[in-house]
Order: sequence, then C-alpha cells, then structure tokens
Amino acid sequence: MTIEDVDKNFVFHPFTNAREHADHGPLTIVKGQGSTLTDTRGKEYLDAMAGLWCVNIGYGNAEMAESLREQTLKLPYYHTFASMGNEPVAQLAQRLIAMAPGEMSKVFFGNSGSDANDTQVKLVWYYNNVLGRPQKKKIISRSRGYHGVTIMSAGLCGLPGMHAGFDLPLPMIKHVRAPHSLWEQKPGETEAQFVQGLADELEQTILREGPHTVAAFIAEPIQCAGGVIVPPASYFPAIQEVLRRYEVLLIADEVVTGFGRTGEEFGSNVYGIQPDLMTVAKGITSAYVPLSAVIVSDHVWNVVLEGSEKFGLFSHGYTYTAHPLAAAAALTNLDIIERDGLRHQAKARGDHLAERLRAEFAGHPLVGEIRGYGLLGAVEFVKSKDPMTAFDPTGKVSTAVVKRSRELGVITRALPASDTISFSPPFVVTDGEIDRMAALTRQALDDVAADLKLL
Ligand code: PLP
Repeated sequence: MTIEDVDKNFVFHPFTNAREHADHGPLTIVKGQGSTLTDTRGKEYLDAMAGLWCVNIGYGNAEMAESLREQTLKLPYYHTFASMGNEPVAQLAQRLIAMAPGEMSKVFFGNSGSDANDTQVKLVWYYNNVLGRPQKKKIISRSRGYHGVTIMSAGLCGLPGMHAGFDLPLPMIKHVRAPHSLWEQKPGETEAQFVQGLADELEQTILREGPHTVAAFIAEPIQCAGGVIVPPASYFPAIQEVLRRYEVLLIADEVVTGFGRTGEEFGSNVYGIQPDLMTVAKGITSAYVPLSAVIVSDHVWNVVLEGSEKFGLFSHGYTYTAHPLAAAAALTNLDIIERDGLRHQAKARGDHLAERLRAEFAGHPLVGEIRGYGLLGAVEFVKSKDPMTAFDPTGKVSTAVVKRSRELGVITRALPASDTISFSPPFVVTDGEIDRMAALTRQALDDVAADLKLL
C-alpha cells in the first residue's frame, strides 16, 4: 500500500469533500525548505500560502529545530494550572505584552486560533457576569469573517459553509456586513458614505438587540480566509466609536495579521485599533508548534481580578495551555523575525507581490479585483465587470485555477464565499519566487479560461 492509500483508508481530513478524497486521495508532502515543498514523488511546489498563512519564517529552519531540542531535553511539558509556571512561558508573555498595542496586561495561552476565540467568548461572558450584567452576552461578528471551527468560533464565522450541517451559529451571535467595497459599496457611494453605512448598520444592530445584551464585536483587521478584504482606513475608527458608545468590547482577531504579515507588528497597528482583547496564533511560532494566545487589556484583567471574589478559581484552561515547547518555539521565532528584519522584508516582498499580481492579472476580463496589504494578496474572478457579476456557483473558477496552479507547481488557495485565490507566502520568499508564483497562476487562469470556455 502506498502512503496515499494508507491516508485514504484512515485519515479523516479537515475542510475536505469526503467523497472526492475517497476517490482521489491526498497530495502528501514529505518535506519543506524555505518556500518550497516536496511531495512523495519528488515534485516541488512553491508554497504561495505559507501553509495556512502561518509558516512565516519558512520551512526547515535549523534554529527552530535546535531550540525545540534544547527545551525538550530541559522540560518538555509541565502544566500551568493552580499557579504552576515555566520559564519560556513567562518570558513569552512579557514579550507579547511589550509588543501588543494599547494597554495590555496578561496573556492566556491556548493551542489554536479556534480555541483562543472560544476563550475570548467565555472571558467576555465571565467579565459581564462579574460586572453584574448577566444579559450582556451577544457577540457581533461580520459576514466573510473567519474565526475558527469550535461551536462558538465557527458560529462567529460569516461563511455559510461553516454553518451548514452543524446547526450553527448559536443564537447569541449576530452578523453585520463586511467592509468589502467590491460587493458592498453601492454605485455612486463615496468611501466615506460606505464606511458610515457600515458603522450605522453596526449601531442599528446594537440598538435592535438592546445595548444591554451586546457584549463584544469580533473582527480581523484584514479578513483573510473570507477573501483578503482590506478595509478602508476610516473603517475601524468609525466602528470603534460605535462600540465605545454602547460599552461593547472589541476583540481583534490577529491570527493571520499578527507578527509581521502586514509589515507592522499587528494589523491593529495598521488601522489604529485599540482592542480590549486580542487573539493571536499561527505566526506566533510560524506554526512549528501549535500555540495561540488571548491578550487581555488592563481594564478587562481588573474585572477578572474582581471575579476571584465572586467565582474563586478561573476554571478554564487546557492541558497544553502555556506549553513550554510552544513557548520556546515562539521565543525563537520572534527572535528570528526581529534579528533578520523579516517584518520589513515581508513589507518589501508584499510590495513586489502586489506589483507582480497587477502585472499578470490587471485588465484580464475575468479579474474583478486585485487586492492585498503587506504580504497578503488576492485575485478575485468575476463573470463580468460591467455590471460586476459573480460566477454562479461561486468558487468554480478559483478552485479550478488552484488545481491547475498546483499542477504547474504553485500552491495557492481558493477562498470560500468568493471566487478568490490568495497569496500569503513565507516572509523569506524571494522576489524570483514571487515572479514564478504570479506567472504560473496567470498561466493557470488562461488554461482554465480556455478549458471552461469562459472567454
Ligand atoms: N482566526 C483567524 C483570523 C484565522 O484565520 C484562523 C484560521 O485560519 C482562525 C482564527 C482559527 O485558527 P485555527 O485554525 O488555529 O483554529
């Protein structure tokens, strides 16, 4: 039996069509170096997505291997329940608080972006229970948002495919529109009017539900999995003003935008966001080891302290909360990013990516928009541009382009809810590799257009 057969027989794959997988099996990756992956047949791929927007320092980093080896031999595991601690975790928490925007105070560690966003909701509910506001529990999220897959975080997602078949979202979750000008901005509407309309919609939602029932608003600074949606600069200031008026906490989901992908430390720095709570994961360890964190502001923390009198223990935490191997990996990863200037490099490579995507795709009759920020890029395909009309069903073209790109040796991703392919390569990607990523995906689009007779 090949390893592909073993996989088909035994692995239950996430975000995979079970029937198609049973028919076609996996693409099995055996190794990675820099931005290049190799499969079982020795075929190489340029990874234009850094895995799932996360292997920021690139594959095969020897310093990470050494750091994990050292920590494994010194202390591979100990828990942090009941006031127990370990060295790397204390150092990492201190470093995160120093890096984070605004007045942040404490860090709660988890294993994934999903569980961290779950923790956020529990924390927000706990906060309002301590404050004697038992009805203030609803969470507002946005269409096209992506926040994870647990029962709560999947409900927070604004992607219908994440809810279908799972009885989600739970009733305390409400959604508002995304700041996606391509589809949401009305003809003739200025950017200022568009932003005002989104802020008004948020305010009306809070008023309709009752401000005494709305606890928090969760948002990615740039909505990544929902389409690499870059908001207008005035969007977050307008949103924050509404949230403050009604004492609604702001959770910034920085799972993709944290640790340099935008060229800034966090997406919140780009947009002047002052979060009450922040979620980070992925790039914190460049995905070498699973780790996520909830970063808690001073004023939320002060309420948690008060909660000790009311509830005793803060009865939440995972076996792997504050895992020393993950913390050691994070410290080494952050050292590498800082020492090698990778955040600035991400910005420079991002500028090159934007230029190459424009050069390859601008003016193409099937391309509705090319967008991005920092080392994040996207190309959205449309059926026609005047008027702007999406393909129906959504995703057929992007899925075909991704499949063809893979055959040509580039891994991109088809994003759900729109016909969009995304680019989010490792920060160590070279300009030459970016040139090939853009050229080969353009070739893939031409091949698909010819194949599907789209032009
Ligand atoms: N939040 C955002 C913004 C994400 O992009 C993701 C994953 O892509 C998550 C949360 C969930 O993270 P995880 O897959 O680690 O659970």
